[in-house]
Parts: sequence; structure tokens; C-alpha cells
Amino acid sequence: MALFQKKKYIKINPNRSIIEKQADQPEVPDELFAKCPACKHTIYQKDLGKNKVCPNCDYNFRITAKERLALIADQDSFEEMFVGIECDNPLDFPGYPEKLAATKARTGLDEAIMTGVASIKGQKTALAIMDSTFIMASMGTVVGEKLTRLFEYATAQKLPVIVFTASGGARMQEGILSLMQMAKTSAAVKRHSNAGLLYITVLTDPTTGGVTASFASLGDIILAEPQSLIGFAGRRVIEQTVRQTLPDDFQKAEFLLQHGFVDAIVKRTDLRKKLSLLLALHSDLEGNNA
Ligand SMILES: [Zn+2]
Repeated sequence: MALFQKKKYIKINPNRSIIEKQADQPEVPDELFAKCPACKHTIYQKDLGKNKVCPNCDYNFRITAKERLALIADQDSFEEMFVGIECDNPLDFPGYPEKLAATKARTGLDEAIMTGVASIKGQKTALAIMDSTFIMASMGTVVGEKLTRLFEYATAQKLPVIVFTASGGARMQEGILSLMQMAKTSAAVKRHSNAGLLYITVLTDPTTGGVTASFASLGDIILAEPQSLIGFAGRRVIEQTVRQTLPDDFQKAEFLLQHGFVDAIVKRTDLRKKLSLLLALHSDLEGNNA
């Protein structure tokens, strides 16, 4: 008999090749700690603060649309618009309605984008925020419709538009109808632009695919959060197509700033101030935003 017995908390089941948790394994609540995807440090959640910025490397953690709203808009100023638009599974994609219903229940969101009007330091603006926890903020017909209606409303009301983008791209469950949203939203952006109104995009981690290739890239002013992944096709796809190894920082906000795609990288802690300044600089003499 061994003098010292070491308790094994984890056993590997050879039949299933997965690690099984023992019933008496000590639990560390997930919500207490977060691992920084950039510097790999484990961080006490409270140290992240409400801005959710890594204290070690300044990485901006992904946040939900509601968390973003709380950081950007004046308190209680947001009026949500264009909720309740439904998609009726046009391709009969298996399991899609169930997935949508479960995601709505889990996130408390209507779709992958939140749209409405709000004020930032007293200045009224149309505002859209994408949420990557909702089917990776992919753009289907409802996302396209909500954003288009927001731009049409802003054009009629002579309001600037601010869009926070975060997306895995077009929503594959809606096929070609998702791709059509690229043209539809771009046309709405153009009509807003023709009316001489300001459009600011803030690219957050990650902004990819059909969203990058449409309204995300069409801002009069394009801001990005530090170290955000911004691109169209994935890195491996491009490397295999062009048969070249790409630089490590390829598709990072800093790389895109160097190459003129992004106008400025703004830290999350400075975003509200920066946006309010941009709105103020573009407001007309009557005091309206224009
Ligand atoms: Zn970090």
C-alpha cells in the first residue's frame, strides 16, 4: 500500500478519448477568470473592468451589444427600433429555426444587430451594434433589413449613423439571400451619403466576410479597436490561393491602418469621447447633426 496517495481528479476514458470530470473535482467558476486570447494570461474578471480591456496587453475583449451600448451611449438614451422582423427559413435549412429561437432566448437579442437612436454626450445619432455572440453576428436577411431601415430612417431624419461591426460574414443558412444584403445595405449607405450625412464605422474584433465587403468599409470615417481581426476571406484561404506566406499581423487593425484601410485605431476607453468629438465636428450651425 502506498504511503501517500495522490488523488486524481481527472481520468481519461480510453474508449471515448475524452477527459471525464470526476464528481468531486473542485469547481472554479468560469465567470471568475478570463483568459486573454492575445497574451494568454489568466485574468481575474474584476481586473478587466467594465471596458473589458486586458490589464497586461491592452487587448480589447469581445463584448456584447448591450455591454457596448452601456459604454458608448448616454444612460437611458437608447430607443431600440426595427425589432420583431422575422426570417422564415427560406432554404429550409435543417435546424435553423430552432437555432435562431435558442440564440434569441440565450442572448435576449432580437437578431445579431441592435438598431435604434441614442445620444452620445447629448448628440443624437442613429446607432447599430452587432453582437458576435448571436450566430457569430452573421448577416442574414433580418440583419440587412434592420440596418437598411436604420439608414433610411437616418436619411429622413437627417441623423448621422454610427455602426459597430463584428461579424463572421454572411449567414450561410440563408444562402444567396444573405449575400444580397451586401448590395442592399450598401445602397442604403449611399443614399444616406448622397444626403450629405455622416457615417462612422467602428470595426471590432472580428469583422470579416460580407460585412467587411459592404457597409463596414463604407464609413466616411473608419475607426477600429486595437488588435481587431479585420478581413474578407480567411488567412488560410488566401495563403493557399496566392501561394505565399502572409505576415503575422496580416488582417490586424494595425496592419490595415498602415495600408490606409482604417483611419484611426481608438482604444475602447477613448471611444465615447472620440465619437462625441467627431459628431460635434460634423454638426451644422443649427445644432443638428449633419
Ligand atoms: Zn492580454
